[in-house]
Amino acid sequence: RFLKGINHYLVFFLMVAFVVTCSTMLFVSILIKTLGIAMTAQTLGSAAKLTFLNVFLISLLFSIFDSIRRSLTVERAARRISEAAKRIVSGDLDARVENTGSFGMDESLVEITHCFNQMAEELSGVETLRTDFIANVSHEIKTPLAVMQNYGTMLQQPGLSEEKRMEYTTAITNASRRLAELISNILKLNKLESRQIYPAVKEFDLTAQLTDCLLQFENLWEEKNISLNVHLDDSIIIKSDEELLSLVWNNLLSNAFKFTEPGGTVSLSVSEAGNQVIVTVADSGCGISPEVGKHIFEKFYQGDTSRASQGNGLGLALVKRVVDITRSEITVESVPGKGSSFTVKLWRQPCENA
Ligand code: ADP
Repeated sequence: RFLKGINHYLVFFLMVAFVVTCSTMLFVSILIKTLGIAMTAQTLGSAAKLTFLNVFLISLLFSIFDSIRRSLTVERAARRISEAAKRIVSGDLDARVENTGSFGMDESLVEITHCFNQMAEELSGVETLRTDFIANVSHEIKTPLAVMQNYGTMLQQPGLSEEKRMEYTTAITNASRRLAELISNILKLNKLESRQIYPAVKEFDLTAQLTDCLLQFENLWEEKNISLNVHLDDSIIIKSDEELLSLVWNNLLSNAFKFTEPGGTVSLSVSEAGNQVIVTVADSGCGISPEVGKHIFEKFYQGDTSRASQGNGLGLALVKRVVDITRSEITVESVPGKGSSFTVKLWRQPCENA
């Protein structure tokens, strides 16, 4: 700091010395010419000493003034930013640069402070999401594992009846299927989130795809005696990512059948509006309250805890991600106790500005 001060002082000294020498020489030469004053070596010597002293004092004054200005407008803010950065490096993601008003502060530093705080905010948000995600995954994995462990232990009992043995093995198979589904959903979501999946656009028949998806639930609607209300046009050709969209229909239809009581109705319809195709999956199920509705697209969120074991709360998060990637839109309308309706608006062609 001392050396830096000397350095600053020298710069000021040289600058002031240059300016004062030039102006003094000009002034004296004009004075000599116009007034005809003769300069002796003695007067020149004392004038030089006086000028040197002046330069010395003026430079000192300037460098003190400049160092005070710098420390107030630059160094104080720079110190705060580097202290906050060090805290973040050491793992304290709550560190922010204190905003004590930007009066007199260098404008670029005000901007840096603002950006730094924004960056720290984002970082701590990502960290919260990451820890929440790990907590949720661990919880979801632990439940089926505990089921498998318990039933595995029970299977070891000697002299089990065939009926019990079947019951326990079915429970283990179901739990392991749930675990496999969970892991495959996490992997899909991870791929979608880290943008490893770009839409593989090609032409395909949306009606045929929706029919195929619907038919996969045949056993379920027969088992629950659910009526179907289907309005599909003969053939609608669109250009989009077929595989990604099938994830959307599978999840929406599986929810519709899951949340509809036996004897209810599930509807599937498609309509065309200009360059857009609108697919609606509706049901006469339990419906979604406005409070639950705010969170349904979040990862691991399950509004209906009584059906928690039938899913893992990742379905609609996947749907939302695919909808974003394919630049489509999804809206939900629901009346608790009456049913829900999910509407997806797709573009016939991939739309750059959609
Ligand atoms: P999961 O179905 O595995 O619980 P989802 O992400 O598919 O997870 O859905 C999240 C939540 O949204 C569900 O737990 C449920 O509360 C609500 N939900 C989704 N679809 C419907 C529907 N058709 N009817 C009622 N509630 C629904």
